[in-house]
Amino acid sequence: GKIIIAIDGFSSTGKSTIAKQLAKELNYIYVDTGAMYRAVTLYAMKNNYVSANHLDSEQLIDNLNNIKLSFLFNAELGFAEMFLNDTNVEREIRTIEVSKLVSKVSAISEVRKKLVQEQQNMGKDKGIVMDGRDIGTVVFPNAELKLFMTASADKRATRRYKELLDRGDKVNYEEVLFNVQERDRIDSTRKDSPLTKADDAIEFDNSDMGLNEQFERIMSLVND
Ligand code: C5P
Repeated sequence: GKIIIAIDGFSSTGKSTIAKQLAKELNYIYVDTGAMYRAVTLYAMKNNYVSANHLDSEQLIDNLNNIKLSFLFNAELGFAEMFLNDTNVEREIRTIEVSKLVSKVSAISEVRKKLVQEQQNMGKDKGIVMDGRDIGTVVFPNAELKLFMTASADKRATRRYKELLDRGDKVNYEEVLFNVQERDRIDSTRKDSPLTKADDAIEFDNSDMGLNEQFERIMSLVND
């Protein structure tokens, strides 16, 4: 039967690459929960609820019901794009500006409560691969397969830096490295659902593991 695959781990450990590939192979739905936290952050930025030196969580909480998130499958890309109040924000949510504020916004309990509920709803029929930070611990503690991805900070920053350069964004490596480490720090130390490996999650350090090897290993776990 169909199962739930939960993929958690640190920033830029290649979670979404592996999740997309698994979903394609298994004919499952792929959900990128980071995109949801990023979309809420973008909404907060546009309404001036958050910036580098301030966070108005009360205003954001009061307006959570005005935030409609949806995923729309793009056949050309082969995955679902993030829509915020019916606008495609798939590109905008990946900017370094959003990356710099997202961990602040995702530390707000009310934000997490709303998104966790939506995520649980999407998984009610199983056949889903979901990646994030709290999927195996909070969203689907009973997931049949849990993976926890790690990699060295340098590998992760290099990966993210290349992605941003490829899109034509103006960033420097130092700033990307700092952001990756800073997000991990905030995500791991927040009060509500901190980033941590579930006891029954299988850890993958992919610093030196190729994508094919990783995929093969995970597929053999799925088939067990
Ligand atoms: O996965 P991604 O790196 O796009 O996630 C962006 C941020 O969203 C994370 O650094 C974290 O602050 C937040 N997040 C979260 N819980 C999740 C997924 C993402 O708090 N399940």
